[in-house]
Amino acid sequence: MTDSQLQAIAQHHGRSVYVYDAEKIESQYNRLTQAFGAVPNLRLNYAAKALTNISILKWIHHLGCGLDTVSLQEVDLGLKAGFEPQQIMFTPNGVSLKEIEAVAQKGVQINIDNLSILEQFGSRYPNIPVCIRINPHVMAGGNTNISVGHIDSKFGISIHQIPHILRIVENTAMHINGIHMHTGSDILDIEVFLHAAEILFETAKQFDRLDFIDFGSGFKVPYKPGDIETDIEELGEKLSARFNQFCQEYGRELQLIFEPGKFLVSQAGYFLTPVNVVKQTTSTVFAHVDSGFNHLMRPMLYGAYHHIENISNPEGKKRFYTVVGYICETDTFGSNRQISEIKEGDFLAFHNAGAYCFSMASNYNSRYRPAEILWHNNKAHLIRKEESFEDLVQNQVELEFNTVEEVS
Ligand SMILES: *Cc1c(COP(=O)(O)O)cnc(C)c1O
Repeated sequence: MTDSQLQAIAQHHGRSVYVYDAEKIESQYNRLTQAFGAVPNLRLNYAAKALTNISILKWIHHLGCGLDTVSLQEVDLGLKAGFEPQQIMFTPNGVSLKEIEAVAQKGVQINIDNLSILEQFGSRYPNIPVCIRINPHVMAGGNTNISVGHIDSKFGISIHQIPHILRIVENTAMHINGIHMHTGSDILDIEVFLHAAEILFETAKQFDRLDFIDFGSGFKVPYKPGDIETDIEELGEKLSARFNQFCQEYGRELQLIFEPGKFLVSQAGYFLTPVNVVKQTTSTVFAHVDSGFNHLMRPMLYGAYHHIENISNPEGKKRFYTVVGYICETDTFGSNRQISEIKEGDFLAFHNAGAYCFSMASNYNSRYRPAEILWHNNKAHLIRKEESFEDLVQNQVELEFNTVEEVS
């Protein structure tokens, strides 16, 4: 989207708002599909947790994508958005057997990531096929908050526990129809990814009734100007060839699955927010925006970088600003950023605001979560209204206290 399109939406809306570019989601989807075009049976399952607005889910469904979910509620949202149960995968971490049973009853593919639940589920439902999440102990990326495949990670069943998995499968006569890994975000080194894939292929040979192998996600997208991203085309070419070769060895054409979240929606999103106050201090110039980590928490949560631009004055002279929010504790979006000169009332645009931004928003400080807009066919469509005071209080139960009578 262009600055002037964003500026027009900002002016019209007048308040903090998320904007998503439907065509950018589509082009990312096509890019990934084409990169793995050599695989006869490819499936992409969008990781819903990145951005769960129902209109986004409908758009992604319309593109032909499946859905990866981590909670019963995400499964229900997916079903409501029109996904068939067979198009949905449930990949939770450490949830109750009860939740897994509830999802399995809907006909959704279950992915189990620990031996305890595997044994319990297999004993009760030997006829429901399950996928197992393997931890290949490969360190992907440098951020331990979002790197989930390393040895200390709570995710997946260790490859060192394969003998135990096999014993459970034998004892329960359950059917393992897929194996899965998700090594976390920020895969830059394709060789590391291919190495993890080899571990998964080795594991796959232990199971003779597989229908698919799921390689998770972790594609790195650019955040800063000049950032490097995962070379999807190179990965696609190398992994596709190796996957097809593996299917021959395995004796069966398997489905290759990926679960991109960020890759599909991160760059499609912009968070627009007006500047309330420009405050010169002795050390810096603060731009106080009409928002905070209640709307966009990644910078405070993981030190994530979001590129910030002044869309009201894109050609202005660059100055240094520290962009902060209105929350009553440290709430910094970006320190010492070079941004075109900011006047109070200007709108700033935060880039890469499609993934893990709105979906992590809260009502902290009793603020409303903002509206969301989908930009599609050169038109802005409102896909979520800004919250109201009613929304803040609707589930609260107000007690009435009688005035205590004074003892005379
Ligand atoms: C979060 C998650 C994803 C998506 O990760 P991205 O980095 O957003 O692509 C994929 N698979 C699983 C199991 C996840 O938990």
